Formats: sequence, structure tokens, C-alpha cells
Amino acid sequence: KTKSAAFSDKIKTSRLMHEEASEVIPGGVTANIKYFAPHPIVMEEGHGSKLYDVDGNEYIDYLMCYGALMTGHGHPEVFSAVTEQMYSKGTTIFGTPHKLEVDLAKKLVSLYPGIDQVRYCNSGMEATLLAVRLASAYTGKKKLAKFEGHYHGGYDQVLLSVNPEESKAGSSSSPTPVPESSGMSDYHTEHTIMLPFNDIESCEKILRTHADDISALIMEPVQGGFIPAEKEFITKLRALTHELGILLIFDEVKTGFRLALGGAQEMYGILPDLTTLGKVLGGGFPVGALGGRRDIMELCSPAASKDILTAGDDNQNKREAFFHSGTYNGHPTTLAAGLATIHLLEKHHNLDKTFQKTEYLKKELEKMYYSAGIPMTAMGEGTIFNIVVTDKPIKNLRQMNQSNTELRKAIDYELLDLGIYSKPLNRYSVSTAHDEKDLDKTLQAHYDALQRVTN
Ligand code: PLP
Repeated sequence: KTKSAAFSDKIKTSRLMHEEASEVIPGGVTANIKYFAPHPIVMEEGHGSKLYDVDGNEYIDYLMCYGALMTGHGHPEVFSAVTEQMYSKGTTIFGTPHKLEVDLAKKLVSLYPGIDQVRYCNSGMEATLLAVRLASAYTGKKKLAKFEGHYHGGYDQVLLSVNPEESKAGSSSSPTPVPESSGMSDYHTEHTIMLPFNDIESCEKILRTHADDISALIMEPVQGGFIPAEKEFITKLRALTHELGILLIFDEVKTGFRLALGGAQEMYGILPDLTTLGKVLGGGFPVGALGGRRDIMELCSPAASKDILTAGDDNQNKREAFFHSGTYNGHPTTLAAGLATIHLLEKHHNLDKTFQKTEYLKKELEKMYYSAGIPMTAMGEGTIFNIVVTDKPIKNLRQMNQSNTELRKAIDYELLDLGIYSKPLNRYSVSTAHDEKDLDKTLQAHYDALQRVTN
């Protein structure tokens, strides 16, 4: 049997379950991203750094639910915070204000330099949607600027040019907005200004041209957690958006708590006007949050929204009310898990230790690939990295797409067989649960995978 046939045998229950699922769930997956060919692996249990599939195979998990699990699967302190919350209060949710909302908000205000006030929602996508609307309400301007290749969720306003294909996306210095799904509204394609990442001259030209119409620039300060904004680029961008009256939104759904407790804004020392959070904040439960400058966030207040003045407007213009709502906003179970997770990261330098583990993996993997004759950069910040098979510098997704993704994919499939779980071509998210044994096993598995693909 070939290696791949042997692996197919190993995950045959997954194949059967995927076939069954596909009858009642399109593609057998509840999010397109969960699919990979020939079929995804169906998981049954997760413990600490490990996942166990329905065939009983064990994997060291580096997907960590797309970065959401910062303390691994089922950390006892997260579990006990959740159960304590439910059992001691007798309910899963109140539908009214409650104490944990304030406790967590105070924590976020203390950790994130750009956050004075917070509103909760239930996903990262909702948080960015709220941020974009709030920016428009605050500035009275209608257009949004975003970077090519940056992801902020799946709605029409931001699902543009997430995977730039050069034939469709125009020139690299002046990219065109390209819808990433069928069925999207033309309005947003026409009203979104697309910018090239890490190219300040082009950004300045485009932003100055459209400044009167642009309410906000939304960005991932470190794209996908692995392509950092260059320090000079992001510093100039902050100054420029300030000068032009464009709000700067840091989408820290991915980078929050993973680059530093205070996210990319702490790492760079740069203050955005608005910040979106998600993933780690929910400790494994669905969450999103928007935070930001008090004068902007106050617009969300039902008591004040009628009376707040237009930014910089002396004419006492009355505003329309700003709408933000959601049945499950500030879910007590989620907030209990989130608070417990942040507490764990603060305790015993756990986050710093996870940085060290990540750095160790990156360094050792780079050496190993280099020795195998494969040019590779383990790119990333904090606890996230990506294996990029190239010897060229990567400053944006177009350049990333030029790297050897075919070889990377071949290695990823071997790694699945060798017990390392990361969805093919996905990034690695390290957690506090990964221990030295996991790291050694991971390095050995990469070594074996490289032997297989190069022989
Ligand atoms: N923003 C960024 C930077 C993300 O990485 C993601 C998810 O991957 C989102 C927004 C959307 O978050 P969610 O999947 O919770 O809606």
C-alpha cells in the first residue's frame, strides 16, 4: 500500500461520517474553511494539546480552533469557571446586565491601550461589522478602506480581495476590490477602497484622494497573525489616518492575547481608535467584542446617542440613534471562560512561556528545513506562525501566494499521517497546553515528513 492509501485506511470512519454528513449538510461542513480534500477529519475528543479523531487517532493540535484556544482543550480552570458560573447562578443566561460584563470590560480596558469602553457580541465578524458601522456613524462618511488580503469576517462590506489573484486584483500598488463570494452586493464593491499592505507611498496616495469619503481604515496589524505590518508603515499609517480624519480600526480578533495580552497595539505601541476582539477572548465559546475611544463608543449608548454631536461639528447637529443589539451579547458562560483564560495567561508568565515555545519551534523548524534543502521561513508573531516555503521576503499576501504552497501542502498531508493536526496550509497556533514532549514530537514529525516528500 502507498503511504496515502494507508492513511486513508486510518481515517476511514471520518470518510464515512463525512459522506453521511454531506447528505444533510452542504459539503458535510458547517463552515467552508473546515473542508479539505479528499475529506476533513472528524474529531471526537480534545484534551490539552491533543485532538482525537473518530478512528481513535491522536494528533498534536496546532489549529487550536483557528487560534481561539489559547489554553488548549478543556483546561480545568476554564471548565470550573464555566460550571461554577452556571451552577451557582442557576441559569445559563440572564438577558439582563450582569457582573461579569463589567469585570471583563474592566480587564480589557486595563490591557488594551486603545480601549476605554467595550461592547460584546458573538463573533469576530459581528465585532468588525459593528466597528465599521460605528465609524460611519461617528464620521458621517460612507466608504471603508481595507487592505488586500486582510480578513474581517464573511459579510459583503469586508469580504473583498481576501485572496488576491493577480489576474483579477489589478496592480499591486492600486488593487481593485474583488468579491470573494457569489451573491454579494455591488454597492460595497463600489464603496470600498482597497489598499496594498506594507506600501505606504501607495496607501498615502489612495487615502488622500478619497479622504473625504472614508470613514475608517480597518486592518489586521499582523495579517493572519504572521505577516506583520512593518513598524514604519504602521506608524505612518496611524499619523496619516489621524491627519485625514479617518478612524483606524485594529482588527485584533486573531492577534488579541496571542501577540501580547494587549494584542498588536501593545506590541507596536500604537493606539487605534477602535479595536475588535474575538477568538481567545471567549475561552473556546463564541464571542466578539468592540472596544475603543470613549467619545466614539459612547455613540452606542441608548441614553446618549440622540444628543451626541457630530465629530468636530459645532452646529449642535442631533444624531440618529446608533443600533447595536444581540440576544446573546455578553453571555455569562462565555465571559466566565474568557476571564478564566486571561487569568491563566497572566499567571506564572504563561503567555511568555508560550512565546518561548513558539520561538523554539520556529527556529528549529527553519534549521531543519534548511538542512533538507528547502528554503523556509517560520513567519509569525507571538504564538502564531506559518510555514512559508520561500527564500524571498514576504510583505503581503500576493508575495505569500508566490511561495511553494504545493510542497507545503504535501508536507501538511504527511504531518496529518504523522499525528500533527493543522488543516493543510493553515497557520500554527501554539497554546499553553503544548509541552516539551509535544514540541519534540512535532520536530520529529516534520523531520519524517520532509524525508517522505523529498525522497
Ligand atoms: N477578523 C479576523 C482578523 C479573523 O481572523 C477572523 C476569523 O478568523 C474574523 C475577523 C472573524 O471572526 P469569526 O470567525 O469569529 O466571525
